[in-house]
Amino acid sequence: MVIVMQEGASDAQIQNVIDKLIAHGFDVHRSTGASHTVLGAVGVHRDFDHRDFELLEGVREVMRITQPFKLASRQFKPEGTIIDLGRGVKIGGPEVVVAAGPCSVESREQIHAIAEDVAKAGAKILRAGAFKPRTSPYAFQGMGEPGLKLMREAADKFGLFTVSEVMDPSQVEMMGRYVDIYQVGARNMQNYHLLRALGEVRKPVLLKRGMSATMEELLLSAEYILAGGNYNVILCERGIRTFETYTRNTFDLAAIPVIQKLSHLPMWADPSHGTGRRDKVPPMARAAVAAGADGLLIEVHNDPEHALSDGAQSLEPPAFTRLMAELRIIAPAIGRRIA
Ligand code: PEP
Ligand code: MN
Repeated sequence: MVIVMQEGASDAQIQNVIDKLIAHGFDVHRSTGASHTVLGAVGVHRDFDHRDFELLEGVREVMRITQPFKLASRQFKPEGTIIDLGRGVKIGGPEVVVAAGPCSVESREQIHAIAEDVAKAGAKILRAGAFKPRTSPYAFQGMGEPGLKLMREAADKFGLFTVSEVMDPSQVEMMGRYVDIYQVGARNMQNYHLLRALGEVRKPVLLKRGMSATMEELLLSAEYILAGGNYNVILCERGIRTFETYTRNTFDLAAIPVIQKLSHLPMWADPSHGTGRRDKVPPMARAAVAAGADGLLIEVHNDPEHALSDGAQSLEPPAFTRLMAELRIIAPAIGRRIA
């Protein structure tokens, strides 16, 4: 249920409504817009008469949220969420923010060289995995914490923020020392213990769509994080599994406008995992920006032939630089820009 307060409702009136909701057993989430406050009341359904709330002082309107996801829905928060990383980088605003880097951190030389290249090309965030969810237990599993240290060092040297995948609740605290954004990978989109743990922190979370997840399931996973009180969630389309075999996954471009209509959360796209092939990444990255993506996650490697993971879908730095130049032409056509 959403309670829209009147413009100019007093703090005491708002607090009175919050107290009543809590007394009814609801969890209350407050969203303060430009002109009025909206209170989202979520929780297991209980018998109550919503007219009781309509009559409270300062209340303009009481509405039921018809979607199964509540705090993630635009009914709860009509204006888009903007996540401010600092140093002028805002996710969900007019700028399309690009995160780029290797699939995995492999060495100091590798991560420093790639960080320098992607920063020069205009990326704002360095992406790299240190804990890798590999399909085979015999494949490279990532460098772990030493890899995160190298990534942080490289990012700081070139003025970048960092995003890296967290696989387990036990890693959340340690990783918080190195990452600016936690990534939840496709395979963990429905790891509810992990989602709840990330609801407890306040750093942004990049939540990737599971490879067999519907858009509604993606939004319900986001809801777990939001319900914990962490409102800094970024969603990401990364391709879903279909009968098609020419591409690694089927990149579901339509998810971008569909999710943006349903939810106020920033919506990103990952054309690297979405296609699985280096030559298909630039066209799909261009398409994602044209479709309105708020950000891109792109794998870049300086020696993809010898990459320890996902070399086939990694762009070499010159191709990434060219792609960024193309995106700078496309973005203004739909009122966006790229650094
Ligand atoms: C990754 O970003 O390297 C990754 C493992 O992505 P996904 O979870 O989408 O497969
Ligand atoms: Mn990868």
